[in-house]
Amino acid sequence: MSPASSHPQVVVIGGGQAGLSVSFYLKRLGLEPGTDFVVLDRGPGTGGAWQLRWEALRVGSAHRINDLPGMDALGLTFDEADRTLPAKEVVADYYRQYEEFYDLRIVRPADVHRVSNRDLDLVVEYTDAQGATHELTTDVVVNATGTWGSPFIPWYPGLDSFAGRHLHTSDYESADEFRDRSVVVVGGGTSAIGFLMELEGVVSELTWVSRRPIEFLDESELNLEAGAAAVAMQDEAARAGRALPSIVSGTGVPRTRRIQAAIDRGLLVAKPMFSSVEPDGVRWEDGTFQKADAILWSTGFRPELRHLAPLKLREKEGGVTVGNGSSWKDGRVFFAGYGPQASTIGANRAGRQIARQVIATLSNL
Ligand code: FAD
Repeated sequence: MSPASSHPQVVVIGGGQAGLSVSFYLKRLGLEPGTDFVVLDRGPGTGGAWQLRWEALRVGSAHRINDLPGMDALGLTFDEADRTLPAKEVVADYYRQYEEFYDLRIVRPADVHRVSNRDLDLVVEYTDAQGATHELTTDVVVNATGTWGSPFIPWYPGLDSFAGRHLHTSDYESADEFRDRSVVVVGGGTSAIGFLMELEGVVSELTWVSRRPIEFLDESELNLEAGAAAVAMQDEAARAGRALPSIVSGTGVPRTRRIQAAIDRGLLVAKPMFSSVEPDGVRWEDGTFQKADAILWSTGFRPELRHLAPLKLREKEGGVTVGNGSSWKDGRVFFAGYGPQASTIGANRAGRQIARQVIATLSNL
């Protein structure tokens, strides 16, 4: 679908949970999708980053997805989602129904590669499926691009010399790819733990390393108080324009029944981080060596902001300064799902908060 207007008042970049939530509230506050505001999304289909996640990932207690605002009107709730189906299918299907029900007219695939200033306008340039470039001029941009497109792998000496396969969470498809291989999983979050449980019994050797000790919570679902502390850490960093800390370092890992069983059978014992990578494995400070055919880096993501570079919003501290979803350097640019909002519940909150601010900004132009 192409946008009906080449100068919408608002362009939303990204059609995941955050972009959909902003769109819902913009519509509710009187803006017409496709004309007053246009949503551009790079994804081939609906589902935000969820459509690209691995087959075995399920919606459940370790991965709890909050309902989008107004989703109850469709008779849908993630709490009752089919746990036998891959999360990628469930979420893509729910989002598709949601987009259709609210007639959000999302333009996809539309890969935004540049946002810049021209006179008083913001110019959003994107590429379509055929590789043709288009541009929209607009008054306000809401960036809701998530993190999936910006995987983070920390640097270790010898990293480039590794002759096996390096892959990140975002590249993982299924345990079968690693049958009878020796695999080192790096990371201390729920994704790393999920991979260990999937790879167990399939690979020939499985080694888990983490840069910090794992804190297993007593609860079987994410502890909201610990969650609030993690969100506060994110907020503090975003307001100071610093690079964002890892979410999981502030929340700990919930002890679901599956995770408790894995702890009980001795699977979830992490070694400290290795100190270097060699062509055929990894080595610790004390000289210990582990052969590896693959290193799976479950080491998180960074916000995807490359396309905003011409706006020069980045601070020397490494991040962008964002308070309540709004850029402090440029009042026409908003960030939905950034930092403290980087969860499905945060993305929902962002929607309401940002849509109201967008309307206020437009009325002052
Ligand atoms: P995304 O879902 O990433 O959507 C961003 C959209 O922007 C995508 O559709 C993408 O195609 C598009 N986009 C990106 N760049 C561009 C561009 N340049 N041009 C155009 N479009 C672009 N949160 C939870 O609340 N519960 C969970 O259980 C949970 N599990 C998670 C598991 C994993 C493995 C990971 C990595 C994250 C998890 N999260 C979870 C966090 C989760 O990603 C967020 O909660 C939420 O789904 C993010 O929504 P979003 O809209 O901000 O980002």
